[in-house]
Amino acid sequence: MDHLNGKKTFVGVVLSLKVNKSFTYSVPKELEEEIAIGKRALVSFRNRKCQGCIIEIHQTPPPENLKIKELIEIVDQEPVITPELLKLAKWIANYYFSSWGMVLKSCIPTLSKSNKEKYISLGINQEEVKLLLKELNKAQKRILHILLSNPLLKEKELLYQAEVSNSPLKTLVRKGIIKITYLQEQNILTSSSKVKTSQPFLLTDEQRVALEQLNKSIEKEEFKVFLLQGITGSGKTEIYLQAINKVIAKGKQALVLIPEISLTPQMEERFKSRFGENVAILHSRISLKKKNEEWHKIKKGQVSITIGARSAIFAPFLNLGLIVVDEEHERTYKQDHNPRYHARDAAIMRAKFTSSVVVLGSATPSLESLYNAQKGKYDYLRLSYRVKDFSLPEVKLIDLRKEIPEKSKTLISFKLQKAIKERLERREQTILFLNRRGFSPYILCVSCGKSLLCEYCNVTLTYHLKDKALRCHYCGNLAEIPSLCPYCKNKKIKLFGSGTEKIEKEINRLFPQAKVARLDIDITKKKNALEDILSKFNQGSIDILIGTQIIAKGLDVPNVTLVGVILADTSLNIPDFRASEHTFNLLTQVAGRAGRGDLKGEVLIQTYNPEQFCIQTAVNQDCNLFYQEEIKNREELDYPPFSRLANIIFQGKIESKVEEEALKFQKTLKNNNFFDLKILGPSPCVISKVKSKYRFQILLKSKKVFLLHQIINKTLESYQPPAFIKLEIDIDPIFML
Ligand code: ADP
Ligand code: ZN
Repeated sequence: MDHLNGKKTFVGVVLSLKVNKSFTYSVPKELEEEIAIGKRALVSFRNRKCQGCIIEIHQTPPPENLKIKELIEIVDQEPVITPELLKLAKWIANYYFSSWGMVLKSCIPTLSKSNKEKYISLGINQEEVKLLLKELNKAQKRILHILLSNPLLKEKELLYQAEVSNSPLKTLVRKGIIKITYLQEQNILTSSSKVKTSQPFLLTDEQRVALEQLNKSIEKEEFKVFLLQGITGSGKTEIYLQAINKVIAKGKQALVLIPEISLTPQMEERFKSRFGENVAILHSRISLKKKNEEWHKIKKGQVSITIGARSAIFAPFLNLGLIVVDEEHERTYKQDHNPRYHARDAAIMRAKFTSSVVVLGSATPSLESLYNAQKGKYDYLRLSYRVKDFSLPEVKLIDLRKEIPEKSKTLISFKLQKAIKERLERREQTILFLNRRGFSPYILCVSCGKSLLCEYCNVTLTYHLKDKALRCHYCGNLAEIPSLCPYCKNKKIKLFGSGTEKIEKEINRLFPQAKVARLDIDITKKKNALEDILSKFNQGSIDILIGTQIIAKGLDVPNVTLVGVILADTSLNIPDFRASEHTFNLLTQVAGRAGRGDLKGEVLIQTYNPEQFCIQTAVNQDCNLFYQEEIKNREELDYPPFSRLANIIFQGKIESKVEEEALKFQKTLKNNNFFDLKILGPSPCVISKVKSKYRFQILLKSKKVFLLHQIINKTLESYQPPAFIKLEIDIDPIFML
């Protein structure tokens, strides 16, 4: 190497630490041949061996007084991080207040040390168990009953089936009644090996116009972002496929990002049927071993197409030409822990660095993206018609204020019950949808349907058990629970918070003969559960499927003729300025699940707020009308896309200390506030306590995102949190609970 001119060589290494800086190490003679930017190296840091990534090589000796350690070992034979990924990671680290080393760590899949899974079995024989049962508590009994009929179960599966926490399990292990074994996990990749082949369709006029635009930019190898808006079934995916054809013809690679919880098998199959083995898959439900194989295929250029969830944005392409972000409005694209990047925005940066084309596709684009298209930052492409002309389902609202008797505990109106019954009789299938799992309680007047809003921030007030009061979690404003509804003056204010499990119980009670299944986040944590339930539902051996947003997307079962939305208001009453947008998206998507075959579909939406414009526009599936209305609200209250936000979260064990530190930070912010940014809070987060840690937040608002960076960086120069406080910064936050 040409740096071997007798001088000592040094490298800059970034480590997976919170601090965003690099550390200098000297290179021992025997390693000089091996070092290269983008390779991982083993170093000693605070007397521990750590892995880091080499980001620079130089021969400038560090200051005399600095003690420089030597590199211990070089991990990789070839660089694992390309210069382009180094740049992307650096951008993400700086933009999202993470560290370069931490982001780089997420670029490389961790090699699986062992892919063994924890299994549970009985530690004593069945007869002994039966004798013991009387002495045990309920949870422990449930565990043993399940093990009596399933002698060997994965721990996660067992906990799920028994609906218990870890602690009864631990007790039973301690007493020797059950035991743990570690067994090799099967390779859980389910993609069918035999995929039908498919040919490109002759495009409709609309599709052709859109594809021509994309192809022009792909041909020119220019950076450009397109927003492709089209209802489900309008042929977006077909456009992706044909644009990718073009990319491959140019000898380049394409990345297709899909939301994490999407129904990947279907997407996977469509791509494999067109491109065969030229497709790599990266998402959380494939094994680490497989992930590693796929990663190396991409890096060696053995595949042209990669389909993956959020973290696939770090796939090691050699020659990227196109990035598709399907369902670009999905919130799962934003990572909710460090590094808190948004995969859509990172995709746009990556495309910029590589002169690639980006397609953001959605039936219901985010307000931010629509606004960018309107401003001319993105090129707008529109598909207004369905390719195959199945009719849109009929959507009806059920006004719960009239339909549910006041004292009744049920949430399933008589009309919905009747509709379900009809489906069961006709052997058709039903989907029941609850916008989210039961969660932080909110308050609603069951007479007029309105929930209480903060007068300053216009977000729903949340009920705090501890204060027995309502709180705005943006500004901290505290309000009493009024005895009368401020809108209709009725005394019918009620606490809400109902989850999918409760609905499942109720459906079982109402329709004991029906085959019922539930799908929500808790269930999909188990491997194969999602695929399992979906394939059963596809085959028709489940009559009623109950679920959260997971079932809102992608499901395409012709025999589903009824979709019931249990309570549209749940997502509406979340204290989040995006609540309307989220509700509209969910309702539009879930409505699209009904009547996808020859049978006509019906959608029943239960709500206490039938007049709400996001519900009204969802009934008519009128995205543009919703957008026009919602964008006015955002402008009026100066929320994104008219402003940019940063959420600064403080966590710690002692509540008063957390608040105190948050206040110190706020003071420092105020001192540095040369551009008059809005500083809201500190106030307790909606989820004010997690794992016995108290949480406070400060919300910053600015017209320009660089001002947010400036003020925070300046503040961090003079304020560092003490060790017992965890400080997190979330730029362009999506989840602000
Ligand atoms: P989207 O991604 O917008 O939901 P798809 O691309 O999946 O739409 O198209 C919907 C259906 O129509 C699919 O079954 C697809 O194979 C089919 N399709 C798409 N484009 C055409 C076309 N030009 N001619 C015939 N069928 C098409
Ligand atoms: Zn407020």
